[in-house]
Amino acid sequence: RPRNPLELKDIFIAVKTTRKYHKSRLDLLFQTWVSKAKEQTFIFTDGEDQELRRRAGDNIINTNCSAAHTRQALCCKMSVEYDKFIESQRKWFCHMDDDNYVIVPSLLKLLSSYHHTQDVYLGRPSLDHPIEAAERVKSDGSVSTSSVSLFVSFSIPPSVVLSIPPFLSLSNLLLFSLTLVFFSQVSVKFWFATGGAGFCISRGLALKMSPWASLGNFISTAEKIRLPDDCTMGYIIEALLEVTLTHTHLFHSHLENLQRLPTDTVLEQVTLSYGGFENRRNVISIGGAFSLVEDPSRFKTVHCLLYPETDWCPSLGHH
Ligand code: UDP
Ligand code: MN
Repeated sequence: RPRNPLELKDIFIAVKTTRKYHKSRLDLLFQTWVSKAKEQTFIFTDGEDQELRRRAGDNIINTNCSAAHTRQALCCKMSVEYDKFIESQRKWFCHMDDDNYVIVPSLLKLLSSYHHTQDVYLGRPSLDHPIEAAERVKSDGSVSTSSVSLFVSFSIPPSVVLSIPPFLSLSNLLLFSLTLVFFSQVSVKFWFATGGAGFCISRGLALKMSPWASLGNFISTAEKIRLPDDCTMGYIIEALLEVTLTHTHLFHSHLENLQRLPTDTVLEQVTLSYGGFENRRNVISIGGAFSLVEDPSRFKTVHCLLYPETDWCPSLGHH
């Protein structure tokens, strides 16, 4: 047993949302898991909503980021999440989407097994291999990532190499310069935690990320590699700081087949999710108080299994 057990108040949970999902997604979260971590959960949105403000007060943060589903808008929100966490002085930063259910006791238990002063980046990799990006090395030796190609590694065709001097002609010179450009491209491989499953970062690591993540730097870092917010996190942590992602299978996004998650393990997971519009049937298989029509996401069902004493859950003993 650790001498200073981790408490809920040590965690900062950021939920990314957008104005149009306040009713359809956030209401469900407030009704369920957020009610168990009210002081810890901060909602990052893009539009004022008096009703939401009355409900959650200062824990609603209007990022003033655009409400578009673009890389820039999403990175803008992540950048505000990061800054607010740093300001909060808490030990752990956990990012969630508004279609995640957080099993709060499991999250606390998981984070308790790590130390917040160490470099910890915890999440679920969305791919079964690291992502690959190309960085350009400047002549002064510093690295500036100017272009990225996913899963493409540069190789120099033998014909190009063979055409290098001594047989200098104008076209050979051109090929030679191209070769030099390719040589200066250093490919970088890194893992990243998929944002849709939620991920956590220790304060120790978050502080080290500051040059690339704080006060708008996150947005410029993301612009350099032209990758989404969650990939940018992975790039800063794994590629720039050389801290490895701790892979966990306790976090879940709707990119995976949620029906396949064994029913008897659902309550031990840390995060859950449900299929988007295109895949309404991608939900965890769990039975209980509510039918699929009453509880299409299964979040209410999970909540009542975890907290059967909740006033809107069917009373114990009547089932
Ligand atoms: N989102 C956002 N702005 C948008 C659309 C989505 O901030 O314009 C948020 C949304 O609230 C959610 C996350 O981005 O927290 C992922 O969105 P969604 O679940 O709709 O898409 P997917 O998981 O398929 O990427
Ligand atoms: Mn989603």
